[in-house]
Amino acid sequence: MSEVILTLNAGSSSMKFAAYRSAADAPERIMRGQVAGLGTEPTLVLKTGGQNETRAISAGTHAEAMPVILDAIAPFIDGARVVGVGHRIVHGGPDVATHRRLDAALMEELAGYEPLAPLHQPHNLAAARAAMEVFPDAVQVGCFDTAFHRTHGWVNDAFAIPRKYYDRGVRRYGFHGLSYDYITRRLATDYPTLAGRRIVIAHLGNGASMCGVRDGKSVATTMGFSPLDGLPMGTRSGQIDPGVLLYLMETECMDAKELAQMLYRESGLLGLSGISNDMRTLLASHDPHAAQAVDYFVFRVRREIGAMSAVLGGIDGVVFCGGIGENAPVIRGRVLDGLQYLGIEVDAGANDHNAVEIGRGAVPVLVIPTDEEFVIADAVQDTLRSYD
Ligand code: ADP
Repeated sequence: MSEVILTLNAGSSSMKFAAYRSAADAPERIMRGQVAGLGTEPTLVLKTGGQNETRAISAGTHAEAMPVILDAIAPFIDGARVVGVGHRIVHGGPDVATHRRLDAALMEELAGYEPLAPLHQPHNLAAARAAMEVFPDAVQVGCFDTAFHRTHGWVNDAFAIPRKYYDRGVRRYGFHGLSYDYITRRLATDYPTLAGRRIVIAHLGNGASMCGVRDGKSVATTMGFSPLDGLPMGTRSGQIDPGVLLYLMETECMDAKELAQMLYRESGLLGLSGISNDMRTLLASHDPHAAQAVDYFVFRVRREIGAMSAVLGGIDGVVFCGGIGENAPVIRGRVLDGLQYLGIEVDAGANDHNAVEIGRGAVPVLVIPTDEEFVIADAVQDTLRSYD
């Protein structure tokens, strides 16, 4: 092995990473892992060959995690040169529609979007700066969660508030773009008859959103200005009447910080159930509030499928991905039950087994595990190719 690509996906207290063998057609994954608990009890988890190995580490920051990650990767890459590092960056702003090489000018522009994604963007950029120091000769590539949605028409990009705010960047950016990018590529290679059609992709994980795709391009998505909008999530509210926030500010004297804490960390499945943000726990619970949280989740996902059908002018295929979408037959079954009027019907046996094809109506229903890391590694490969 001579050349290696790394991918980094930095969250507020975590850093997911993977190493890929650089290859002419598509990068091949060698290993992956995660540093978690930065700032509290940091650990390193290595995922190789179906085995997880966890150990305590002493890193306190993203920069301090870098040498730990490099040490963890070293035995797997056998002295090969790291030629490129790909970074998941949540916000690319209103114009960036694809991955881009990270240079000083772009880093500065991206830092300007920190107020738009305060929980993610600073960490994403800190990880990129750390990688630039460690690998000054490697190409550094930014891959943006917002980029896939830059094909939206104006009506799906704007809010009906005074126009000056649109001009100041208050727009529906949409997120989870790397996941939607991966799924549309898989459709193009594995289901070519669906690739040019009207597809609804439901990324249902701890973070959840849905995307309406036509001809492989995003037409609409449920997340908006922030990753709070749309579907209810593990701890995020999803769509909410802004009047509720005004009311809480007036009557409970809640300020922006308290509202953010409530909307990002105390709402969604956790807030509704009072038990957990974890769908598995809720499905196993006999508490009526757990059942209501699941009912709400199912109701909102179904509602958005209907909305996507209206926006796309019909649905030719449905894809589920994300932790819930890939592993929870009962949720998929309940979400799709009663959608026969759209040509959508579930094969219960296939659904129970998490089969790839779970539909038995006119409209194919697929379960495709998403792979955002691959999209990042492939973006680096693509950038390297442009230098050949
Ligand atoms: P993230 O958005 O953090 O990447 P994931 O995509 O890993 O999250 O999804 C996590 C969610 O998937 C959790 O709610 C978890 O309970 C759910 N999940 C994972 N496996 C199952 C399962 N077998 N049944 C039901 N839910 C599951």
